[in-house]
Amino acid sequence: MASSNNGNRAAWLQGPSGHCELAPTDKVTPWRLILLGAPGVGKGTQADLLHQRLGACHLSTGDVFRAAGSRPDCEQSPAMRDALASMRRGELVPDSTVWELVRERRACLQCRGGFILDGFPRTLSQAVSLAQLMKSEGLSLTAVVSYELPAEAIVARLAGRRTCQKCKAVYHIVERPPQLEGQCDRCGGKLFQREDDRPESIEVRLEAYERSTRPLIDFYSNSGLLRQIEATGSPEQILDRTLPEIDARHLSQGAQQLWTAAENRR
Ligand code: AMP
Repeated sequence: MASSNNGNRAAWLQGPSGHCELAPTDKVTPWRLILLGAPGVGKGTQADLLHQRLGACHLSTGDVFRAAGSRPDCEQSPAMRDALASMRRGELVPDSTVWELVRERRACLQCRGGFILDGFPRTLSQAVSLAQLMKSEGLSLTAVVSYELPAEAIVARLAGRRTCQKCKAVYHIVERPPQLEGQCDRCGGKLFQREDDRPESIEVRLEAYERSTRPLIDFYSNSGLLRQIEATGSPEQILDRTLPEIDARHLSQGAQQLWTAAENRR
């Protein structure tokens, strides 16, 4: 298993005051991936598996909001309280709040361990802000992976999803049940259903995806970075479909960097 600072992801989950418990390993070409796809398509699970294979850190904006939501009310800014209310209804959090949160965590984007963004960007405005920040920092993306699944399958996945309160491992009551009902196989933590996985929120989230996030597919396909992957089958099958697609891009990016370095030495 590749090592990285995904151990506690403190710099991402807590912001500038947090310190990751492990330093990232040096990498010639860090993996910098964006995962797109409707809620429930399995982006979080793929991000975890990709992290285990590639070492890059799994950075989810949803996890940042959930971490903030688990802190006492008095520690939250008014913008964060509004964001958590939007999240409970299944609506997108306003771009300005999301961008503020990502901007103050930009050290995670610059981290030499690389990153796997899950749930960000979700709107064109967020994608443009990210592209501008990365350009100004001289960072390039390896690939953007968009996972595709029919709407009925997405609804079934979301409604049956259960998450561990402690380690955030994800289960499904039918497709991937834990050995003991309601208990995490990995750490023994209690499994819960996310508030936004309830039927009334699922509908709102899928509409928000179609309206605001699907246009990103065109945005990234114009840049030549996009890889569209069918998200049917087991998580391992989906990973097996993903790796060759992004590996080709990574190798060509690595070759490009070596070539540029050789040119610069002439
Ligand atoms: P997720 O865990 O990625 O499904 O995110 C859970 C919820 O957090 C979403 O339904 C939104 O309410 C909010 N959220 C997370 N990331 C973003 C984002 N990039 N833009 C707007 N809202 C977001």
